[in-house]
Amino acid sequence: CFCQLSGAIDECSCNIDTVDYFNNVKIYPRLKSLLLKDYFRFYKVNLKRPCPFWIDDSKCAMKDCHIKPCPPEDIPDGLKGTEKQKRPPAAGPHPSKKYSKQANEDCTEHHELDYLNKTISEKLQKELQLWEAYDDATDNFCDIDESDEEAEYVDLLLNPERFTGYSGESAHRVWKSIYLENCFRPKTSFSFNPYIQSNKLQELCLEERVFYRSISGLHASINTHLCADYLITKDNSLGLGRAKWGANLDEFQKRFSPENTNGEGPNWLRNLYFIYLIELRALVKAAPYLESEEFYTGNESNDWDTKMAIKDLLSIIKSFPDHFDETTMFRNSEQAQKLKYEFKQHFRNITRIMDCVGCDKCRLWGKLQTQGLGTALKILFSGKFDSMTYNRSLDSHNKKEFQLQRNEIVSLINAFGRLSNSVYKLDDFRQMMR
Ligand code: FAD
Repeated sequence: CFCQLSGAIDECSCNIDTVDYFNNVKIYPRLKSLLLKDYFRFYKVNLKRPCPFWIDDSKCAMKDCHIKPCPPEDIPDGLKGTEKQKRPPAAGPHPSKKYSKQANEDCTEHHELDYLNKTISEKLQKELQLWEAYDDATDNFCDIDESDEEAEYVDLLLNPERFTGYSGESAHRVWKSIYLENCFRPKTSFSFNPYIQSNKLQELCLEERVFYRSISGLHASINTHLCADYLITKDNSLGLGRAKWGANLDEFQKRFSPENTNGEGPNWLRNLYFIYLIELRALVKAAPYLESEEFYTGNESNDWDTKMAIKDLLSIIKSFPDHFDETTMFRNSEQAQKLKYEFKQHFRNITRIMDCVGCDKCRLWGKLQTQGLGTALKILFSGKFDSMTYNRSLDSHNKKEFQLQRNEIVSLINAFGRLSNSVYKLDDFRQMMR
C-alpha cells in the first residue's frame, strides 16, 4: 500500500512508526479535547483583505465555502477587550495656589513643563513602540497585522476544515504561485509542475529543502483533510439541506497514489511527517513560555482547565524521542544570514498569498495554518526562544521580550492539531485499504 510508509523521516533521525504511535495514541486524543476549549476555539482574522498579487476574480459562491458568523454573545468576555484604555483626567492646579498671582505664574510654568514632559514622553513612547513593532516584524515570518481593525472572531468549531469543492484555476494559481515563485527551486528544474521531483531535491541546500518539505507537507495535510471529511451525499434520505460527511478513499488514492502523481504522492505524505516534526519541535522550545501563559478568556475555571491541559500535552511532547534539530540550519556559511532573510521573506509572501484564496473557508484555514507554521519558524529561528536567553529572561520576569500574541498561540496549537489529525486520518486510510 502506497500509504504504508516506513523508515526515517527525511532530514530527521526519527522514524515514521514512532510518530504514528506517539501521535495516534498520545498526542491526538489530548489535542482533540484541548481544541474544544474557548481559548483555542476563537480565532481573530481578517478574511476581507484583497489579494495583493492579482485581480481576485474567483469569489467562490459554493455553499460549503461560506463562513458561519460568530454571534457576539458567544465570544468569551475576556476576549472582547476592545475598549480603549481611558486616560485619567489631566490634573488641574493645586487648590492652595488657586488665588495668588505668583501661584498662577508657577502654575503656568508648571503646566508648560508638564506639557513639555508629556510631549517628550509621548514622543519617546511612540518611538519605542515603533522600534518594538519593527523588532517584532523582523522576527515575524507572517505578514499579519495583529491590530487589524477589520479582523473578526471566527468560531473554528462552527467552520471545520473539510471538502469545499474549491478547485480549478483559482486553487491552482495559488499553489503554483507558492511553489514556483516562493519556494526555492533546483537550478536544473525547468518544470512547470508545482512539485519538485524527489531526485532533484538533493540539489537544494538543507534550508531550501526544509522550506519545500514544510510547504508540501502542509499541502498534503490540507488535501488529506478534504479526503477524510468529504461530502458523501447531499440531502434526500437525510432530509432537505442535510449532508453526510465522511472519508473518501477513491479521492485519497486519486491524490496520493504513485500512479496518479508521477510517483510523488508517497513523498508528499512523508513531508506531512516532516512538518509535523518541525511544529512539534517548536512546541518543545516554547514549552516554558506556554506553561507560564494564562490562556485568559475571563472564565477562571475554564482557563485553569486549559492551563492544565496544555501542561499535560507539553509533558508528552517533551518526552518524544527524536526531535527535528533546527541548530543544523543557518550556520557554517557566510551566506547563512542572507539565506535566513530570504527564507523569511519567502514565507511572509506565502502568508500574503493566502488573501488570494478564493474560498472563504479554505482561506480561513490556510491563514490559520500558515500563521501557525510561521509562529513555529519564529520560535525556532528568531533566537529568542533559545533556552539560555529564554530562561534567564523568564527568571528576571522580562517575559515581554518573548511575548507571543494570542493569535500566534491559537494558530500554533490549532495548526499542530491539524497535522496531528492528518497523521491520524492517514492511519484510517491505511486500514480502509487493507
Ligand atoms: P492541487 O491540490 O490543487 O495541487 C496542484 C498541483 O500541486 C498538483 O497537480 C500536483 O502537481 C502538486 N501537488 C499536490 N499535492 C502536493 C504536495 N503535497 N506537495 C507538492 N506538490 C503537490 N479544498 C477543500 O476542499 N477544502 C479546503 O479546506 C481547502 N483548503 C485549501 C487551502 C488553500 C490555501 C488552497 C490553495 C487550496 C485549498 N483547497 C481546499 C483546494 C485543494 O487544496 C486543491 O487545490 C483542490 O482540491 C484541487 O486539487 P488538485 O487535485 O487539482 O491538485
